[in-house]
Amino acid sequence: MTAPLIDPFARPITYLRVSVTDRCDFRCVYCMTENMTFLPKKDLLTLEELDRMCSAFVGLGVRKLRITGGEPLVRRDIMTFFEGMTRHLESGALEELTLTTNGSQLERFAEELHAAGVRRVNVSLDTLDEEKFARVTRWGRLPQVLRGLDAAQRAGLRVKLNAVALKGFNEDEIFTLSEFCAARGMDLTWIEVMPMGDLGNEDRVGQYWSLNDLRARLAERYTLTDLPERTGGPARYVRLEETGQKIGFITPLTHNFCESCNRVRMTCTGQLYMCLGQEDMADLRPALRNHPNDDAPLREAIREAIAHKPKGHDFDYSRQKADGQVSRHMSHTGG
Ligand code: SAM
Ligand code: SF4
Repeated sequence: MTAPLIDPFARPITYLRVSVTDRCDFRCVYCMTENMTFLPKKDLLTLEELDRMCSAFVGLGVRKLRITGGEPLVRRDIMTFFEGMTRHLESGALEELTLTTNGSQLERFAEELHAAGVRRVNVSLDTLDEEKFARVTRWGRLPQVLRGLDAAQRAGLRVKLNAVALKGFNEDEIFTLSEFCAARGMDLTWIEVMPMGDLGNEDRVGQYWSLNDLRARLAERYTLTDLPERTGGPARYVRLEETGQKIGFITPLTHNFCESCNRVRMTCTGQLYMCLGQEDMADLRPALRNHPNDDAPLREAIREAIAHKPKGHDFDYSRQKADGQVSRHMSHTGG
């Protein structure tokens, strides 16, 4: 019998987020620099290795798998991987297979994703203004993403929008974005910008817009009711009583959510990060590659890694600098 994964703080680990590529067709200003250097293709886990890795986690009790990146849907033949995971949904071992995407390729892949058993997608969209969208994503085009949203909903996928709250950028869109989502039956979650990546001349503290402030502004127009539901992650939810709509807030910097953390993250090269906000990681690739026909060493390496999951992160903007900052870009660990 395989015992479930329990970390040193008695938290069961049932949720794995997997970055399947560090590449992306956008260059969002808070995520990447314009001239990113990407990993050599040979360093990436192959699709077969990704399957083996995820299957090992599922065998150890992971119930939810979120595929991310970079942009997961730009990885070549990625549908083969999704289709491979269908067997774990069908066996009941896996409860949910889902992804976070910028939406650019959804028009092409929505139906195939649904056929593979995906039922929900998170789409990142910070603005409904074409010019602002081009500015914040550098390379993205809004109409393509809007067509992706349509395709996803047509295919029967539930869509949640994730918007990064950016000071002086989308502050004026809290109501338009809420109304856009309400009209389409989509949930909306706001994310505080996090101090990921080397800041260089990018001013992450300057981009920071506290969700406490955003929430206060929402409350000027709507009656907000706190919802008790938690996902084991950093999101908290409110309901707008006038519309019934649910709005989420991901506030790693103003709330401590670590006590109920149920997740770990794997990079596209097979490094397991036990906490998004800490540098500590375990490289699972040797256990995978050195034992092509035996998963026991891989399972052992996973257990060993989980035994080192830290209690929490140390992000803190309170002293007007990005304390607790980690040097990785979000696209590396997978947001
Ligand atoms: N490319 C996909 C997308 O954009 O949805 C998946 C990967 S992206 C790294 C995952 C999420 O991380 C996106 O919602 C993005 O907005 C968010 N993100 C990226 N950099 C961030 C940062 N510095 N702070 C907060 N969220 C960030
Ligand atoms: Fe690409 Fe997503 Fe990062 Fe934007 S947030 S650059 S879409 S990986």
